[in-house]
Amino acid sequence: MRNLQDISIQYVKGVGPARKKLFANLGIENIEDLLYFFPRRYEDRRQMTPFNQLKAGEFQTVSGKVLARGGHRSWFTKKHVYETAIGDDTGRLFCVWFNQPFLENYFKVGEQVVVYGKVEVYKNRLQMVSPEYELISKDDESLSVGRIVPIYSLTRGISQRYLRKVIKACLTSYGLELRDVLPSSIRQKFSLSNLSQSISNIHFPESLEIQKQSYERIAFEEFFFFQVSVILRRLSIVHKKGISHAIAEDFLERFIHSFPFELTGAQIRVIKELAEDMKRESPMLRMLQGDVGSGKTLVALFGCVAAFQNGWQSVFMAPTEILARQHFEVIQKMVENGPFKEMRIALLVSNLKKEQKEKIYREVQNGEIHLLIGTHALLEEQVQFKRLSFVVIDEQHKFGVRQRALLSDKGTNPDVLVMTATPIPRTLCLTLYGDLDVSMIDELPPGRGKIQTRLFYQNQAADVYKLLRQMVEKGCQAFIVYPIIEESASLDLKAAVASFKHFEQNEFKGLSLGLVHGQMNRKENQLVMDKFKNKEIDILVATTVVEVGVDVPNATVMVIEHAERFGLAQMHQLRGRIGRGEKDSVCFLIADPTTEEAQARLRAILSTTDGFKIAEEDLAIRGPGQFFGRHQHGLNELRIANPATQLDILELARKEALALTSADPQLKLGANRTVKEVVQKRYPAYLAMVSAG
Ligand code: ADP
Ligand code: MG
Repeated sequence: MRNLQDISIQYVKGVGPARKKLFANLGIENIEDLLYFFPRRYEDRRQMTPFNQLKAGEFQTVSGKVLARGGHRSWFTKKHVYETAIGDDTGRLFCVWFNQPFLENYFKVGEQVVVYGKVEVYKNRLQMVSPEYELISKDDESLSVGRIVPIYSLTRGISQRYLRKVIKACLTSYGLELRDVLPSSIRQKFSLSNLSQSISNIHFPESLEIQKQSYERIAFEEFFFFQVSVILRRLSIVHKKGISHAIAEDFLERFIHSFPFELTGAQIRVIKELAEDMKRESPMLRMLQGDVGSGKTLVALFGCVAAFQNGWQSVFMAPTEILARQHFEVIQKMVENGPFKEMRIALLVSNLKKEQKEKIYREVQNGEIHLLIGTHALLEEQVQFKRLSFVVIDEQHKFGVRQRALLSDKGTNPDVLVMTATPIPRTLCLTLYGDLDVSMIDELPPGRGKIQTRLFYQNQAADVYKLLRQMVEKGCQAFIVYPIIEESASLDLKAAVASFKHFEQNEFKGLSLGLVHGQMNRKENQLVMDKFKNKEIDILVATTVVEVGVDVPNATVMVIEHAERFGLAQMHQLRGRIGRGEKDSVCFLIADPTTEEAQARLRAILSTTDGFKIAEEDLAIRGPGQFFGRHQHGLNELRIANPATQLDILELARKEALALTSADPQLKLGANRTVKEVVQKRYPAYLAMVSAG
């Protein structure tokens, strides 16, 4: 049987070598990619709404003839404006596009079009601004009108109509060759329909119920194989021979009582969980979740000290230099003032001088350094440990799978603790981290002030600055944070720098201001941070470099500029920079939210400071694909299934995957061999860690 993955898309009718490149822009290279390129939504075009029944305020699809069209440049905004009027016997609708001059040649009077968008009333007429549009011609009517029509994500050069035709042709020529790889026992158990049929139903469903059923069937299958890969990975790790640490009761007690404050109940519980894992010979693979400020660093330090007590080394990786440096300073202080003074700690970041680095490489290799803290610089090949037994990865979601594996591979099956301050909803946790044990710090240290969050619109910014000035004059310290958005980082940077200069001369004249941003020289950056910590700076203007970890307990005010542009998790992290001391804090959001999503984010951040609630909300708003950003492993692997909305299916699939792998852990029996093959093929990066780590 042919493998559809091995057949290039160019052989599908209507594609050919030239258009093949366009498909590559959509990530489609072979037949299987194309068949699994699912619609992003559907339009029910079985019965079109007549124009006189369109309702203002709603998203609707409507089909009509082009009645008139024309483009001009607005004398007022200088934007190019293109308008068409479309309609039927009952009425008409105006469609307006801005800055899309190429549309001038697109529509012709008399042609049939379908548009989709939000109907609005403007100057007494119905209009849609920037609707999605499609020309309909006779030869593809059967796919584009009179039915439930798939709407795909597109790229330049590929239109909806064309893509529909190509997919239809592909289904006809190759659809029946789709191989049903799910074990037949499982298929029977849940009476799942056949794969070819399901895929076909997803592209061209006869009803929305059939579409849903088919989609769930494919999602189940995907979850199933992904879960098998997760479980295999876990099995392969726990069966390895790792390092058993001796951890005596009195050592544990001594550690717990070596701080100027009492540990929280949650910290002690997690330290004990860690101790149990570290005593065991099988390697630890544990994730520590705890909201910002919950005191994770100290828990991680416990593992490092335990390793040291047993004559081993440990390593602690953080995603930014500011954070690594701060961990280094805090940990060094903790250790100096505690009963484990002999432990030697070093900081490795990429900016060190060559000699400094080489000294560290040497001392790590000969075992003189017991705990090495740093950034990605730790991953360099020159970093070789003498005896590494404990690995900590802070803000783990900022790293990719490979990076985490690279670090662990510097020891022989060391114990690994990954930490995250972005609480992960249970559903995602199961999907992505089904191979990890999870510990939670669900309690903040006592004596923390409350954080109040207040929203102001852009035109009220002056009020915020006035309030801020009053607070600073009373002795508070404040952050003013500007967003950095990758595509226009330099623009945003300018905004921060310009505002800083402006503030110095105007709103905050006479106060001491500092500025930090990612493109600043590291020394300057550090200098400013130190001054802020020492209260020599009242107001720190910053880009999101202050996002993670930065700890200045006296800072009790934060202003987030353009808050509508920040992601929810990011805002939560930012806000976590205040409220770290005993005093109450205030967070001002200055925002002009224009999209529904931005409004939802602001509502969520205003309504709670509970990181878990915020995470659930974030997931609901954005969906899992964007929840963590690109780095996150696993999410990219799931092309179809959606753990946020399909928890029930995920749980079923996980149950089946567990049953299968516990009955036959090697997947050697009969049809299980196919399962193993599929997993190896689909999730090679994920499984590479099995053999590597
Ligand atoms: P995070 O979980 O965000 O990494 P940190 O470990 O940085 O939190 O801790 C935040 C602050 O709280 C630090 O200044 C730390 O010293 C302090 N801290 C940690 N645990 C306690 C505790 N039990 N009581 C009081 N302060 C604590
Ligand atoms: Mg931390």
